[in-house]
Amino acid sequence: MPIFEFVCEECDQFFEELVRSASAIGEVICPGCQSESVQKKLSTFASKVAGSSSFSPSTSVPSCSPGGL
Ligand SMILES: [Zn+2]
Repeated sequence: MPIFEFVCEECDQFFEELVRSASAIGEVICPGCQSESVQKKLSTFASKVAGSSSFSPSTSVPSCSPGGL
């Protein structure tokens, strides 16, 4: 089931809402201030990780020193 992220224009609160149909998007209200002025955000899954040094694929790995012994 699609879960969309919303942000309230009144109190700037982020929240997630499970939306079953496209028409239900317009019926989403802010859980904080019950305002209908909410903006649907694009669902960002893996690009909001704080800090950019968690999963470095193959960069800055200096374990390739020549000469074992
Ligand atoms: Zn609000």
